[in-house]
Amino acid sequence: MKIAVAKGDGIGPEIMSAVLKIFDANKVPLEYEMVDMGKWVFDKGFSNGMTPEAQQTIERLGILFKGPMETPKGKGVKSVNVTARKTWNTYANKRVFQTLHGVDTVFSKAGIPIDITVVRENIEDTYGGIEHMLTHDVALSRRFITRPGSMQVIRYAFAMARQKNARRITCGHKANIMKITDGLFLECFYEVAKEYPELKADDIIVDDLCMKLVTRPDTFDVVVLTNLQGDIVSDLCAGLVGGLGFAPSANIGDHICIFEAVHGTAPDIAGKNIANPTALLLSGFAMLRHLGLTENAAIIENALLYTLEQGVHTGDFGDKNKPSLNTTEFADAIISNFGKMPQLNAKELLANKPGTPTPLKLEKNTMLESKEIENEKIIGVDMFIESNEQPDVIAKKCQRHAGVKFNLVNISNRGTQVWPTGSVYTNLVNQYNVRFESIDTYPLNQQDVIGLYVSLSGDFKICSLELLNMWGEKKSYSSAAGQ
Ligand code: NAD
Repeated sequence: MKIAVAKGDGIGPEIMSAVLKIFDANKVPLEYEMVDMGKWVFDKGFSNGMTPEAQQTIERLGILFKGPMETPKGKGVKSVNVTARKTWNTYANKRVFQTLHGVDTVFSKAGIPIDITVVRENIEDTYGGIEHMLTHDVALSRRFITRPGSMQVIRYAFAMARQKNARRITCGHKANIMKITDGLFLECFYEVAKEYPELKADDIIVDDLCMKLVTRPDTFDVVVLTNLQGDIVSDLCAGLVGGLGFAPSANIGDHICIFEAVHGTAPDIAGKNIANPTALLLSGFAMLRHLGLTENAAIIENALLYTLEQGVHTGDFGDKNKPSLNTTEFADAIISNFGKMPQLNAKELLANKPGTPTPLKLEKNTMLESKEIENEKIIGVDMFIESNEQPDVIAKKCQRHAGVKFNLVNISNRGTQVWPTGSVYTNLVNQYNVRFESIDTYPLNQQDVIGLYVSLSGDFKICSLELLNMWGEKKSYSSAAGQ
């Protein structure tokens, strides 16, 4: 069995060497094809942070085991970590946070066990990184939440929860504010929940979730969230079990999977051989189990748990009165404990399953599209215009352009209505959303909208526009605060 391995930047090569040394000592039946990815590949002029050969190897083998990679700070350069997850559609990011005996936390000291699996959507949301400056004062990030994308990750979360006999699956969201985007994610969650009647499925607003995670973490089991909220909540969960050094991550897709630690390149300790390899090792266990190498995973995991129980630690955790080991010594300590059983959470030695999932060779991109059940019609348009004038002045100008097909319905600034009614206490920025709807909700076409655009552009710079669609009786757009 062959997998692709990218050592990564910063502490990446040190922790990857430690983990592969442990795998080799346990005779894990894997061969590694090293691939070129990371900051140094950017520096060689490959703008996506990987060579074409690396991409071909990963697509051929289907599994990438990777160290953390640095995102160079600078214009136009995207994170290679995010690019990899998105390019290969690893739509579900599974992060498991468990109490580890020997890693003291406030909860372990209080006898409160933690076993939380966060499933974070991995492709969409603000991680699209689609951002524009609309005026010199106003930046816009487009946050895509799609039905097929949400269904993929939510279906994965439910199937995984069933497999692990979870007692509860919770959707974290902010649908009270982002009614359309997070509302869609939540709708998909309850749609899939119908197929899993045995699972207790519920939802919680993400801020409340954060508060409850730090007060009663033991009440949660599987938590599924959109991308950014999932990223933040998973670092919070890492803190509950001892920090980033113990947070593994599996990026699951239908064809390609990426296994890596949650933490970054730790530039402050890179090159010193003192980094904690546990998070990458835990990610390695998830990979071995994914490949059917359950026995190897169990032997090494039991050795790791036993080592931690003995109070053996690297410098970032553990009893400060006991000397810490460096990365290599820590790996050697685990190797010396192969065959030992921990007192708590010992893993059953299930025999390896032969064979490995070979990735299906795709000839073309997969189109994810759900069935459209209602007819779509355009009933208006939001024009985002640049102006530093007062709302009533803008309204008068806009009304002149409305013509016979459009009504000027309202004007808002940063999402708050300022015309026809509003408050002089609302501060303004130099960009307004001017909403036009069709007279008598008569269906419009794109040419009507372009006509309005051309006319309006005589008075204003139009920064962007969004069509106002209806699907049957359902509005596809939000109202302004105060509307
Ligand atoms: P970081 O995770 O690298 O470091 C945060 C803190 O945790 C530092 O004090 C570091 O020393 C410590 N730390 C992290 N991992 C550790 C380990 N294994 N053992 C001991 N201590 C550890 O986060 P950062 O400083 O915000 O990011 C540094 C770089 O890493 C950035 O370029 C960022 O883009 C990148 N990054 C990459 C990934 C990834 O590859 N998946 C994830 C996060 C950040």
